[in-house]
Amino acid sequence: MICVIGSGPAAVACIAPFIKQGIKVRVIDIGHRLDETTTAQVSSLATQTPAQWSSSDISRLTQNKSLSYRGIPLKLSFGSNFPYRTPSFGMEYACKKVASLPSYALGGFSNVWGGAMLPYRAPDIATWPIDVEELAPHYEAVVNLTGLAATHDDLERYFPLYASHIHSLNMSTQAESLLKDLQHSREPLRHEGIIFGRSRLAFTPSVLEPQTKCQYCTLCMSGCPYGVIFNSSMLIKYWSASGAIQYVDQCIVETIRETGDDIVIKGRTTHGEMFEEHAQRVFLAAGLLPSTAIVLRSQDRYNEPVVANDSQYFLFPLLRFFGNDGVRREKMHTLSQIFIELFEVHEASHPVHLQIYSYNDLIYEKLQKTFRSLMPQSFLEKLVSRVLVVQGYLHSDDSAKIQMVLSKSSKNIDQLNVTPLAHSKTRLLVAQVLRKVGSLFPLLKGVPLSPLLYMGEAGRGFHSGGSFPMSNNPSMREADLLGRPWGYKRLHLVDASIFPSIPATTITYSVMANAHRIASSLTKENQ
Ligand SMILES: Cc1cc2nc3c(=O)[nH]c(=O)nc-3n(C[C@H](O)[C@H](O)[C@H](O)COP(=O)(O)OP(=O)(O)OC[C@H]3O[C@@H](n4cnc5c(N)ncnc54)[C@H](O)[C@@H]3O)c2cc1C
Repeated sequence: MICVIGSGPAAVACIAPFIKQGIKVRVIDIGHRLDETTTAQVSSLATQTPAQWSSSDISRLTQNKSLSYRGIPLKLSFGSNFPYRTPSFGMEYACKKVASLPSYALGGFSNVWGGAMLPYRAPDIATWPIDVEELAPHYEAVVNLTGLAATHDDLERYFPLYASHIHSLNMSTQAESLLKDLQHSREPLRHEGIIFGRSRLAFTPSVLEPQTKCQYCTLCMSGCPYGVIFNSSMLIKYWSASGAIQYVDQCIVETIRETGDDIVIKGRTTHGEMFEEHAQRVFLAAGLLPSTAIVLRSQDRYNEPVVANDSQYFLFPLLRFFGNDGVRREKMHTLSQIFIELFEVHEASHPVHLQIYSYNDLIYEKLQKTFRSLMPQSFLEKLVSRVLVVQGYLHSDDSAKIQMVLSKSSKNIDQLNVTPLAHSKTRLLVAQVLRKVGSLFPLLKGVPLSPLLYMGEAGRGFHSGGSFPMSNNPSMREADLLGRPWGYKRLHLVDASIFPSIPATTITYSVMANAHRIASSLTKENQ
């Protein structure tokens, strides 16, 4: 039996090639999910048009009580924090000045992700033992699972559209007006090493009813009632219902050990009972922290530091010189609207990736909290019509690292201690990004509000990985090209824990492509 651990994006990308070959897979997962009452409310919304929704339903499903989490809102799913919820026993994660979190949900973090999908470029993964050509067919296969909303534009020269079919999405008026200004200054911006295009988003997944389309209901930041944004739980449910996989949830995997041709998975159910599974091969897709903890624990590697990479996350508002009226009533999607790639930031070793967001309720609530006592409501409305939010990422070579050490806590419980290892230039580089954006104010027709810059702690952008990086000649702290950590023949890590570095562009598309590559190369032998 082939076992896959987890049900997030890495897991489904790894499962797909087995299903294609008619090989049945057992999926072992913790699988927290939205409570039944909320699920019923969401299902009811999906049968109606946004105009038919009642305001009380919407306010309940879009409430976000986590507005204070480390400075910016933590994205919830229909008002629920289930994607971040951990069981009351088992592995503890002691994160000090690191904002990484594990997800124990059916669908993992794809319940709350932003759907942004841009592949890696060859120069940004030059130190990897595999190249972009090897990933290319798998990028294409992944789009067949996730769907992709995109357009043909300047991004394509650097970031191919690995898709035979793309969906189109309307832009918000704020984003349209910025894109128009960018296009007007295309040549001077290119001269500054700046390339831009419309965001590429994992929209309209393959298992969706064909007639389901984005309704521009503005709820993307709280959860899509129509399921138009890719969520890997959809595939798990679909495959499980069709009998293509066996999905076993409420199982917390603790160790995976090999003896000869047998591989043994041990753990506890969420009710505390021990379980044991035997498999022919195991694919571990539990996300960076859980996968690292499981490998260290399985090999009894206590008190041994392992170091992972992170792509520094930062965020700042861009105040445009002119506003767009009526943004609070506009029908639009509220995920990223525009991608901007900065190829020449003074001391950055790799390009910087920026995602532009136009109006959404979280921005409004944040501005309201910050400025309520300083300005009347009418001014706030004007301000919000001029504000865009820029979310930025640096390459991991320019970012802090994350150190993880497995130890026993004072209560004799296994604990993964997670701490940052600062990079001396990260702050300087982010300051250079802001200066560059600021210097282009006549072209962008806007200025960055630098005093409101938010620098995420390491891990806050959820673009981290590389505790066991792939290598041609793996040492004890590495994995081979099939994701096998040192000492294993039948255990394959297929999530970001095997990434040798983390380029600034989005991580999940490449995690999925790499998981698909590893599984594809092993399907034949398991037929
Ligand atoms: C708010 C937010 C927005 C994001 N936006 C984007 C974006 O726009 N673009 C992008 O590229 N990335 C984005 N990301 C990152 C993206 O969500 C992750 O890269 C992606 O989900 C990782 O997929 P994964 O399958 O490796 O792990 P996860 O999604 O973390 O899934 C882990 C799975 O493993 C299971 N599991 C964990 N531990 C165990 C265990 N011990 N036993 C059994 N099962 C276990 C869990 O139940 C879960 O199903 C975002 C993340 C967040 C939080």
